[in-house]
Amino acid sequence: MKSIAENTINRLIVYKKELGRLLKDSVSNVYSHKLAQLSGFPSHLVRRDLMNVGYYGSPAHGYKVNELEKCISDFLCTPDYVRVILIGVGNLGRAILDYCNQQNPKISIIAAFDSDKNKVNKIYHGIYTFHIGSVQNYIKENDIKVAIITVPGSEAQKIASEIVESGVNGIVNFTPVRLQLPDDVYIENLDMMLGLEKVVYFVDGG
Ligand code: NAD
Repeated sequence: MKSIAENTINRLIVYKKELGRLLKDSVSNVYSHKLAQLSGFPSHLVRRDLMNVGYYGSPAHGYKVNELEKCISDFLCTPDYVRVILIGVGNLGRAILDYCNQQNPKISIIAAFDSDKNKVNKIYHGIYTFHIGSVQNYIKENDIKVAIITVPGSEAQKIASEIVESGVNGIVNFTPVRLQLPDDVYIENLDMMLGLEKVVYFVDGG
């Protein structure tokens, strides 16, 4: 497991995304205050993070967008191409299939798995759905390290244990279950209600 603070990584990922947008718009230079505004973090934090990845802008021209984007990508060690699987092709799973594959060309969901025979052997948003019974072999044969879990909570632990046993060591877990897995497995628990509750708290004047 890497030792850098999770919050720093979260911010770098946001900068990278914003820089990607600027590149698409053919913007060649950006100042730290503009990147701060786009990413929603304070300028001093942006400057510190970028110094930490070893990139220094010029006071006159700010940062070169393409160089900075590459520098952050190298720092994050984004490999050339990461193949991900998704388990549970329900409402949320299908929305993720639709959304994710348009986001980062280096990260692709390449297969989906479900237990429902009506969903198996079908293609959702360009991704083929296999029966869950084949997931362990698939992971081994394709050297899959990362999986997204969108099954009902009652199924989550069993699925997670099986895929980890087969070689997965990174899981994005959308279920409400706190997965019990070996320490070397990185788990990102995502829950949109947490974000909503936070917004409600602050809107409420808290
Ligand atoms: P859903 O019922 O529409 O989809 C679940 C899918 O999992 C179905 O296609 C079902 O056939 C499949 N499935 C069930 N058991 C399986 C197994 N053993 N192996 C493989 N596939 C299996 O549910 P949903 O609304 O898409 O929600 C999915 C999960 O995401 C739930 O755990 C839900 O609580 C959670 N959820 C989380 C958030 C969030 O913000 N984190 C938001 C919505 C839903």
